[in-house]
Amino acid sequence: MEFDTKLVQLGQEPTPGTGDVVPPIHLASTFEQRAQDDLRYFYGRGENPTREGLERCLASLEDAAHALAFSSGQAAGATALSLLRPGDVLVSSDDVYGGTFALFSTLERYGITVEYHDLSDPDVVRSAVREGVGLVWIETPTNPLLKVTDIAAVSRLARPLGIPVLVDNTFASPALQQPLALGADISLYSTTKFISGHSDVIGGALVYQRDDFHQAFFSYRTAAGNVPGAFDCFLLHRGLKTLSLRVERQNANTARIVELLQASPRVGRVHYPGLSDHPQHEVAKAQMSGFGSIVTFEYLGEVPDLLKKVERFAVAVSLGSVRSLIECPALMTHRPIPAETRLALGITDNMVRLAIGIEDPRDLLADLEQAL
Ligand SMILES: *Cc1c(COP(=O)(O)O)cnc(C)c1O
Repeated sequence: MEFDTKLVQLGQEPTPGTGDVVPPIHLASTFEQRAQDDLRYFYGRGENPTREGLERCLASLEDAAHALAFSSGQAAGATALSLLRPGDVLVSSDDVYGGTFALFSTLERYGITVEYHDLSDPDVVRSAVREGVGLVWIETPTNPLLKVTDIAAVSRLARPLGIPVLVDNTFASPALQQPLALGADISLYSTTKFISGHSDVIGGALVYQRDDFHQAFFSYRTAAGNVPGAFDCFLLHRGLKTLSLRVERQNANTARIVELLQASPRVGRVHYPGLSDHPQHEVAKAQMSGFGSIVTFEYLGEVPDLLKKVERFAVAVSLGSVRSLIECPALMTHRPIPAETRLALGITDNMVRLAIGIEDPRDLLADLEQAL
């Protein structure tokens, strides 16, 4: 079955005896045990049919054996970190999502060392991925600089050493990038973003092949209780059906906006993996089937003024929604990071990040033009 058909049909099998083309939302917290021959459903923190439908679909999108849904992207991340043991080193991309950075800062107390490296640099990867590393955590493209890491190259180094590679695939979504096919072991999603696509639910997911990971993650999730509710799973699955359509339109809109930004005398550097002057443009071209709908640029004016002037963009964090969003990393998403660390990472105060939606591009272009 092809990707777009899986989006619409998998995990949406009719309830026996009804023929419904959309399965019901299973709200039960507990299940009558004598009614089941093989006792699949026991208690909602462990098993839920609505959640499992979403998980079947998510797993199929990467031809994976397993997917687990979580109450947030962060909950998925915390669960993945349960693979680490005292004495392990976690090797991570240096400009990871702010919440991921906060999550990693809790690891030291368990005797786990976190190392941040620029994994978009192949030489850095060669020295960082070594014996003693318990997990490699890649985010690609990164936020807000859209740096790209070669997933296959990192995986080729890690695999012979038995080091699992996790890719936070939130920015690309499975529609544009397939980490498992590139050799990674785990794909992580904040399903809050492209999977939901409508800015109306918080969720997360892990997608992987290994049965031992599945046992570990399922047990951890059941113990921690970081599961999404049935309504949220329904919303996520409903959003997922249009992922390809949304991403296609978002990418087309973004290409036009990138052109406008490049031509504007009010704009300095434009960071977008689709541009031939992007440092990892060739890697992006090889491992992604599109360049995405997040673009960051340097504004040669006062950023707060720009944020006041835009009308068609909501001034808000997050991304991957049908609605176009604008934000200033230094003032919003990356504000908790100390100014000197931000600058060392290349995140300047006049940077603006756009997350493009599916509106008519003419409205977005006209609005940006007047605001710039
Ligand atoms: C949003 C995001 C997360 C965290 O996800 P939540 O659903 O907000 O918990 C993790 N990684 C990336 C890249 C994100 O954009």
